[in-house]
Amino acid sequence: MSVRPFDAEALRGEFPGLAQQVMDQDLVYLDSAASAQQPQRVIDAVGGYMTRDHANVHRGVHTLSRRATEAYEGARATAATFLGAAAPSEVVFTRGTTEAINLVAQTWALENLEPEDAILVTELEHHSNLVPWQMVAQRTGAELRVVPIDDRGVLDQDVYEALLNPLVKLVAVGHVSNVFGTVNPIGEMIEKAHRVGAKVLVDGAQGAVHGTVDVGDLGCDFYTLSGHKLYGPTGIGVLWARAELLEEMPPWHGGGEMIREVSFDGTTYADPPARFEAGTPNISGAVGLAAAMDWMEGWGREEMARHESDLLEYGVERLAEIDGLRFVGTAPDRAAILSFVVDGCHAQDVGTLLDRH
Ligand code: PMP
Repeated sequence: MSVRPFDAEALRGEFPGLAQQVMDQDLVYLDSAASAQQPQRVIDAVGGYMTRDHANVHRGVHTLSRRATEAYEGARATAATFLGAAAPSEVVFTRGTTEAINLVAQTWALENLEPEDAILVTELEHHSNLVPWQMVAQRTGAELRVVPIDDRGVLDQDVYEALLNPLVKLVAVGHVSNVFGTVNPIGEMIEKAHRVGAKVLVDGAQGAVHGTVDVGDLGCDFYTLSGHKLYGPTGIGVLWARAELLEEMPPWHGGGEMIREVSFDGTTYADPPARFEAGTPNISGAVGLAAAMDWMEGWGREEMARHESDLLEYGVERLAEIDGLRFVGTAPDRAAILSFVVDGCHAQDVGTLLDRH
């Protein structure tokens, strides 16, 4: 796909949500790390699917069901290319990152962890990449180890290495911190984890947004993302996992689509990814997510990341002029996520005040 010359004004113009006034001022939206606005192309793709092609997938023989299946499976192929997956079958559609991590926790982890084993997480993790592992630790008796951060929001790699030993069966780490913007050195961390035989799950909810991701190059075992942070719809996300791991994993939810044969005497399960997609999936969400991925590729993910990096530098420079403002997160390698506190002001009040402007 050819990449358009980068023009930030033109890019902004593609977001209808940004062309409005809030509190009598042109909208400036600074909450994309929580949920990004969506470009017209995504809205049109979802609308087009809803208008012409909607039916259930994988089962009907009629034209609309065929079209819906093609759109849904086409979205899977797009997501596979976006992530550098070896095959579309390595892509499982989920509701988002939270569900993707819970899927791995409730299947792979419950199957593979024993009381003497350990799961390694970090102080940087979003609750979605912590609580599922606490639940697994509780169920299996495995130990939860936590890698600390320093006051810049950088992981202590010495402690990471010290905590890594053959008892660690899984490292669950964020690619990019949603609070500090820290870009973790996950390539090196994955290599070290593999040396002791641990699998690595990368929470890519933020990482997939800021620059290119190639799961083959990274060498991780699981990677997750959420559509709504990637300029796509809510309620859709991806669990990518290595084919051989998906093959071994037992199903999680039972229901339609995930079976091979079903009878009252017993049921056999479908191959991945269908084994993990019980029930009617979020078809329009997948269509929207694929449109968002195509849209990002059209602008160029590297070009977007470069612009974001310029914006971060500008933001840091201007905010540093404010007396009493302190940045939360000052890692040398940072994505365009900026947190700060202001002396004597509650964060809620700062947020309310900024909303008025
Ligand atoms: N991990 C990170 C790093 C995140 O930023 C988020 C969303 N804030 C999540 C996980 C959870 O994503 P979702 O709510 O889309 O499941």
